[in-house]
Amino acid sequence: MEIKSIIKKYKYNKELSSFLKRLYPLLVDFFKDENLIYNALDNCEIIMCGDISEYARKDPSLYESLSLSDNIDLCGVYVSEPFVKYDKKSRTFKVDYIDRSILINGSDLYYDEVKAVLVHEICHLIKSYNHEFEVRNDVLTHRSGFLRTISIIKKEEGYCSDESSFSNGMGLEEGLNVYTEKLLCEKLGIYREVEDEYLIVYEMAKSLMMFPSENIQDIIIKAQIYHDNTLIDKKLGIGFYKLQDFSDEVYFKTFELINNASNYDEKNHIFKEMCEYVEANYKGIIESMHSHARKRSNINARDARSSNS
Ligand SMILES: [Zn+2]
Repeated sequence: MEIKSIIKKYKYNKELSSFLKRLYPLLVDFFKDENLIYNALDNCEIIMCGDISEYARKDPSLYESLSLSDNIDLCGVYVSEPFVKYDKKSRTFKVDYIDRSILINGSDLYYDEVKAVLVHEICHLIKSYNHEFEVRNDVLTHRSGFLRTISIIKKEEGYCSDESSFSNGMGLEEGLNVYTEKLLCEKLGIYREVEDEYLIVYEMAKSLMMFPSENIQDIIIKAQIYHDNTLIDKKLGIGFYKLQDFSDEVYFKTFELINNASNYDEKNHIFKEMCEYVEANYKGIIESMHSHARKRSNINARDARSSNS
């Protein structure tokens, strides 16, 4: 599998091509599934669109799906639009095809910040690609790493409206995606500071990746790309879901508070208070994962003893 054929297919320019050639082996090394990475990149065009808002304005459905407004400053986004069809014969909805693209705010890769955003969005793509959408009756599930969004399909035209959507797992998923982005960027010699809005969930995700349990990083990455939590459940138990819910709460609260802050001091004060709130609650969640891991290792030790005797 050669990235060259993808570069040719989308007629990527020299700059983007050489960046992808450097990034590709690092992605394979990190996610360990070249097939999936290749197919994901092969089915998603990267568009350096200058200004995302202006670009999206030409396409009303894209503009709506990005929930853009004049005061939103989007650096990059992975867009994935499913086209759902009603099959009269089987009387079921089916995902006919998926239109995927990565939009980058910028026209070239001159700045490190733009490169980092591209890495971030490519990671979102890879963690979404495998069985990204699933339909059951009139319920459409979208998965992107640990983020899961459920929408109700409107019978008439297979259309899902935002009002009918429910999602969870975004806080932890964003934290983990920033963690992966940072790691890959370091290998590419790109430096980028984590933005304030992401800093707390990034720290939470980092401590999850460092959790002292065998192969934990591999287990987390596999759960993200294959959308299967079986091993996570075994290793971390209910504590993982407590962490996921808490990350959501912290992520949305931080975003809202920081965006509403009127000046730098206020922003700093909010941030400090938020960190204290997290510290007060976080220990209990981590302890719940530790106690699950301890119980499991006791069971394993008991099993080993009984099989030896
Ligand atoms: Zn993201």
